[in-house]
Amino acid sequence: MRIGVPREIKTDEYRVGLTPSAVRELAGQGHSVLVEREAGAAVGLDDASYEAAGATLVDSASAVFAQAELIVKVKEPQPEEYRQLHPDQILFTFLHLAPDPEQAEGLLASGASCIAYETVTDQAGRLPLLTPMSEVAGRLATQAGAHHLELHQGGRGILLGGVPGVPPAGVTIIGGGVVGTQAARMALGLGAQVRILDKSLVRLRELDALFHGRLVCEYATEDALEQALPQTDLLIGAVLVTGDSAPKLLSREQLGALPTGAVLVDVAIDQGGCFATSRPTTHRQPTFSLDGVVHYCVANIPSAAARTATLALSHATLPYVQALAQNGLEALRRDPGLRAGLNVHGGHITHEAVARALGKPW
Ligand code: NAD
Repeated sequence: MRIGVPREIKTDEYRVGLTPSAVRELAGQGHSVLVEREAGAAVGLDDASYEAAGATLVDSASAVFAQAELIVKVKEPQPEEYRQLHPDQILFTFLHLAPDPEQAEGLLASGASCIAYETVTDQAGRLPLLTPMSEVAGRLATQAGAHHLELHQGGRGILLGGVPGVPPAGVTIIGGGVVGTQAARMALGLGAQVRILDKSLVRLRELDALFHGRLVCEYATEDALEQALPQTDLLIGAVLVTGDSAPKLLSREQLGALPTGAVLVDVAIDQGGCFATSRPTTHRQPTFSLDGVVHYCVANIPSAAARTATLALSHATLPYVQALAQNGLEALRRDPGLRAGLNVHGGHITHEAVARALGKPW
């Protein structure tokens, strides 16, 4: 199959869909891989290493979109990208369609089959392609939070770990999945006092065992959320309802209980955000202040560690790219987990939660 990798064009996005190592595996299996020039340059994956791996370099994204049968990307296609998609083409990338009706209409009009990394499942029902990015985003969420708690960043001038004689910062994490766990790991490592709230008792038990009681695991009632806020210096939103928009967990009024200069990191912003006051920001302008709270709501957090994120993502996607390249859409019939990733096909939304969120027939 002809596989295409365009350079990412979303603001401040530096990741690339396939590494040279992945290209080498695919080329070795007889597939041809078209890579747009400079696609990996920002993360130190230069054109020469793609060529050495067996890729054909092309000068423009339009050459990739015109020729490739399978497009492998990172972020959701931008309007100039989805306008170039055509029927019989497979798009394999993050889509986050639920909060993005404009993109959904563009993909429906294209006639392409669009598989979203974030809804592909494995045999245990986990999300194997979201996981590596959630690992990176979770770790970065704490780093970003610690940085923005500094006084000259607008924060309240609190060191996450405190010092002997001065208590550490309070970190509250809502959602104890992959993002929440990695954020907690970093916060504990820096010496903060950490509390995780989740709706899943099973998950809370796992977290309790994993961290040996070094953090507080609490069931996420509205009462518990409200009671945590006054002692919270860093609030991290990390909830997910697969395929659906993030539930709004705290209103603007409730967030008023945070101390002035507290930092809120809404990692779930790519699914619309889980706090009423969140709105998407970019790495170039990552924060805004509202009601005395610093909001960090970057929708593509892993791009800050784009090299780590590219390698981690490409390792996870490669087996699926190989299956699609080998068997086309038949690969979806063979693997129900990959089928769960299909969000758009033949001008229809094909994922129940996504259809519901967009008010489309299912
Ligand atoms: P996950 O499925 O591993 O974990 C989500 C957790 O949220 C689960 O434990 C679930 O029980 C819990 N949850 C669901 N509803 C809840 C509620 N109402 N109250 C409390 N807990 C609730 O998901 P993940 O991989 O950790 O991803 C979390 C979020 O981070 C997702 O929205 C994902 O899209 C987002 N994400 C964003 C970026 C970014 O760059 N901004 C990067 C990666 C992931």
